[in-house]
Amino acid sequence: MSNTPKEILSKYWGFDSFRGSQEEIINAISNGQDVLGLLPTGGGKSLCFQVPGLMKEGICIVISPLVALIENQVDNLQKLGIKAIGLKGGLKFTEVDKLLDNCIYGNYKFLYLSPERLQQELVQERIKAMNVSMFVIDEAHCISQWGHDFRPAYLSCSILRELHPTPPMVALTATATKRVSEDIITSLELTYPFVVKDSFFRKNIGFEVIMTEDKNGRLKQYCQQIEHSAIVYVRSRRIAEELSRYLVQNNLKATFYHGGVDRKMKTERLNLWLQDKVQIMVATNAFGMGIDKPDVELVVHYQIPDSLENYFQEAGRAGRNGAFAKAILLTNTTDKVLVKKQFIEILPDVAYVKMIYRKLNTFFQIGYGEFTEAKFHLNFNEFCSIYKLNTFLTYNALQLLDRNSVLSLSENFSKKITIKFITDKDTLYRYIDTNAKLADFIKVVLRTYGGLFEFDTQINTYLLSKKTSLPESLIHQNFEVLAKDEIIEYQSVSSDLEMVFLVPRDDDRTINMFAKNIEEQNQLKVEKVTKMLNFIENDSICRSIQLLEYFGEVQEKECGICNVCLSQKIGNTDVVHAKIKIIQILKEQTANSRELQQRLNTTQEIVITALQELLEDNFISLNTTNEYQLL
Ligand code: ADP
Ligand code: MG
Repeated sequence: MSNTPKEILSKYWGFDSFRGSQEEIINAISNGQDVLGLLPTGGGKSLCFQVPGLMKEGICIVISPLVALIENQVDNLQKLGIKAIGLKGGLKFTEVDKLLDNCIYGNYKFLYLSPERLQQELVQERIKAMNVSMFVIDEAHCISQWGHDFRPAYLSCSILRELHPTPPMVALTATATKRVSEDIITSLELTYPFVVKDSFFRKNIGFEVIMTEDKNGRLKQYCQQIEHSAIVYVRSRRIAEELSRYLVQNNLKATFYHGGVDRKMKTERLNLWLQDKVQIMVATNAFGMGIDKPDVELVVHYQIPDSLENYFQEAGRAGRNGAFAKAILLTNTTDKVLVKKQFIEILPDVAYVKMIYRKLNTFFQIGYGEFTEAKFHLNFNEFCSIYKLNTFLTYNALQLLDRNSVLSLSENFSKKITIKFITDKDTLYRYIDTNAKLADFIKVVLRTYGGLFEFDTQINTYLLSKKTSLPESLIHQNFEVLAKDEIIEYQSVSSDLEMVFLVPRDDDRTINMFAKNIEEQNQLKVEKVTKMLNFIENDSICRSIQLLEYFGEVQEKECGICNVCLSQKIGNTDVVHAKIKIIQILKEQTANSRELQQRLNTTQEIVITALQELLEDNFISLNTTNEYQLL
């Protein structure tokens, strides 16, 4: 193929020029170099690998964190007539098998998959047999603990190097802090990568922080003003549902999206929103990564996010088409206290972890210096109530002990399991053939129980553990893998925690080994929350400048459209004057904002600011027909 990058760009996408560093990245990839591309949300990261993917021989393998994202990108490519395959969730083993075969023999140009899929033996084996043009790790910040979306499975991306040592590896993300970049480079073993960072400045987004004791009223007002789409971010599922209901009651087209919504509904709602049948999506952070709707004109944060990284990513979903858009964070006087409660007070410090460790030992009557291999069953609520412990703090302390290998926690204890095979026998045998690790295990299960293909069958994991000489925890894991591969259906009901101590009791000294680590992680979280709060409070520096500074970018020019810039532009006296006039007008009759602006003969910004202040101070209100009236 002899097309130049520009020709490919215009031939497939119909765009006439590259943006930012796209072309440089494409050239580096063409020269076989590894790349770390730090481009803002909406910066056009996909084209950076899709263009060279089309130029090069072979298939481009893309690791992407979300099924929805994979589907979206694969759909887009297919619409352009490009051969692309995505391994979605919920695929049966046979289907995966077939799709991967297509990649080897079918002249496909792109294969998208999740990092969890990559861990499957079958998938690795097949990738090895492919003619790979390059590897792409999209949303690469997920590999870093310093990022805001750490996904342990991402660490397994380095296996790609073992499968094919030569193709270039391209890591892309919109998270640009130094620590995250360094982590990406080391974890993916990028060699002499071409590192490039585009400015994160989003000149068409007006960032605003609005202090109000009536968040709902304000939210309603903003939503009523939009023509296209909006996203409202909240921090809890309950609030997502309540707020969406509130907006609907106010004749707005809204729906909600969170981790608890089932898969089918999620897709359905996303589509309604993408197709403009629903305007406003009220969502937790489960809605987001990679959402590429160009005409989002408003992103509201109804509650304070836990870091500026998350805030900027979410707010950055506004205005991708370059049109003017707003990112509004609503806050009130109690939010700050709440944030501290939610994010900081649940972090156990070293002293707390030591206390919990001692209490655990006392609870189980383990003597000093004693080491026992026994399994202990902890009724968590009982433990907390006996010692009057805060459940969040205690749970997090136990997790810390687990992560630092003092003990091993599992929630498998007395888990009741039922399974049923959902494939036909031929498929199962093929699966056994390609899964050496699970073959013996499956055979024992089949020999032990009859009717597994017909009925949900209750499994005795203790018995299986004896027969297979595998620990019970591994039995559970194996079943989980089989369920994920859609070989079986698997149900389990968990009760309390089960734990095994991994080191002899040495009280404080046990904890001292990783005390520094605990402190660092806590410190990092506190720092992130503090920076977030500082941003909210600082209303004297342009909001874009503040955000960019956080991402290590020096920006001198003010954005001119955030609420800090706007309030400086609008002379205070103008607003006061406008307020007086508005009240005079409304004494006679109700009016909407357009009418008011005409009668005041001043700028829209001044009218809006004046109206907002009057609403805030309860001088006026909005009636059902969107007109202002005196209170
Ligand atoms: P990112 O992954 O960096 O958030 P995407 O790759 O999803 O961004 O691209 C965002 C949008 O910008 C897409 O709609 C894409 O078609 C568009 N885009 C990317 N590059 C260009 C370009 N060179 N010219 C015009 N539009 C572009
Ligand atoms: Mg992207």
